[in-house]
Amino acid sequence: MRVVICGGGVIGACTAYFLCRHGGDVVVVERVEAAAAASGKAGGFLARDWCAGTPLDALARRSFALHAQLPEEIGGDWGYRPMTAHSGFVAADDDPRRDAPTALGWLSKGVVLEQRIGTKETTAIVHPYKFTSAVMNAALAQGAELRVGCVTGIRRDADGTTVKGVEVGKSVIEADAIVIAMGPWSLLAAQWVNLPAINGQLGSSIVYDTGTEVSADALFLESDFHGTSVPIEVFPRADGTTYVTAVLGNTSFPTDPAAVDPEPYGSKVVQMVSERLSPLFRPENIIAWQSCFRPRTEDGLPLIGRVPNHGGVYIATGHDVWGILNAPATGEALAQLIVMGATRGVDLTPFDPARLSPMDAVLQAR
Ligand SMILES: Cc1cc2nc3c(=O)[nH]c(=O)nc-3n(C[C@H](O)[C@H](O)[C@H](O)COP(=O)(O)OP(=O)(O)OC[C@H]3O[C@@H](n4cnc5c(N)ncnc54)[C@H](O)[C@@H]3O)c2cc1C
Repeated sequence: MRVVICGGGVIGACTAYFLCRHGGDVVVVERVEAAAAASGKAGGFLARDWCAGTPLDALARRSFALHAQLPEEIGGDWGYRPMTAHSGFVAADDDPRRDAPTALGWLSKGVVLEQRIGTKETTAIVHPYKFTSAVMNAALAQGAELRVGCVTGIRRDADGTTVKGVEVGKSVIEADAIVIAMGPWSLLAAQWVNLPAINGQLGSSIVYDTGTEVSADALFLESDFHGTSVPIEVFPRADGTTYVTAVLGNTSFPTDPAAVDPEPYGSKVVQMVSERLSPLFRPENIIAWQSCFRPRTEDGLPLIGRVPNHGGVYIATGHDVWGILNAPATGEALAQLIVMGATRGVDLTPFDPARLSPMDAVLQAR
């Protein structure tokens, strides 16, 4: 069975890897390069049970376990390491808690850690670019092919019911099954098949060279920025860098993933807040400014499964803030669905694309 995967982010890479393990003939078509978008610029933070009580719970737990297994299985190093996590805030100038001793040696005074929210058993991190690239390379080593090109359409047989291939400009790559895994750009596929609405939420981040002084503690903080409370996340990585990000809204994104540049306002907010967190977050320690868009759906749950009424077309996107965490179990379950017709472990029913109205039906109703 030949499967063409559209998109070489973490979801496309993990799907390719698990399909290859089932003996699938896999081609990944990626517009820029593997991990070019959010999958290369995310925090890479992983949590075992932060989705407890939601439909994502089983997917997250299975994925967390796969993340721990994959370094040995694939034999690579992408900075997987268990870590502790804390919530807290940056105390205002007139808050007496500013005078308390620093919570961790590398933090500035005034950063207050209120609660431990993750332990080395329940939270961890990967470097997302290295992880996605390593999984893609593991798929290539098992016979998958990665082609750089922009998917522009889907070919079907004469009666329109069976998929024949993927259009990449004027050429066609033949396929028995197609997986749409283009992150927020999966929205473009709504021109080819019926899909629910998909959008992208902007996040900006800065990567600092912080050396070995920073402990393996992830921080989820609130900080005031000109009278507005900004949620800020700090992820020290195994390679001696620390990733800092803030969520600031904005949902429009360019049609070309390569055209996503660091967004100036969000980047400045991250920099100004970071400088209050640690003396290590100095401008001369900045090694990357980044922005990216996480794919989202109307109900906040991913779309994973068959696209209704389009035989042989599958989708895997909309993973929002947990795409790096949930990619391995998504790839594993989708590969089972495509090759065996059903999943064996995680039940994909909550993520069935059929649960949401297709975009064209929503637009017609307005
Ligand atoms: C700031 C930020 C921090 C985050 N932190 C975390 C975190 O700590 N933990 C976590 O679990 N998740 C995190 N996420 C979420 C995670 O990054 C995403 O959910 C995940 O990367 C989505 O992966 P994807 O493969 O679906 O999409 P993408 O990474 O967007 O990949 C889609 C790919 O499709 C390609 N493409 C687009 N159009 C075409 C086309 N026409 N033809 C061919 N290819 C095409 C693109 O070039 C791209 O490479 C974060 C996201 C952001 C923005």
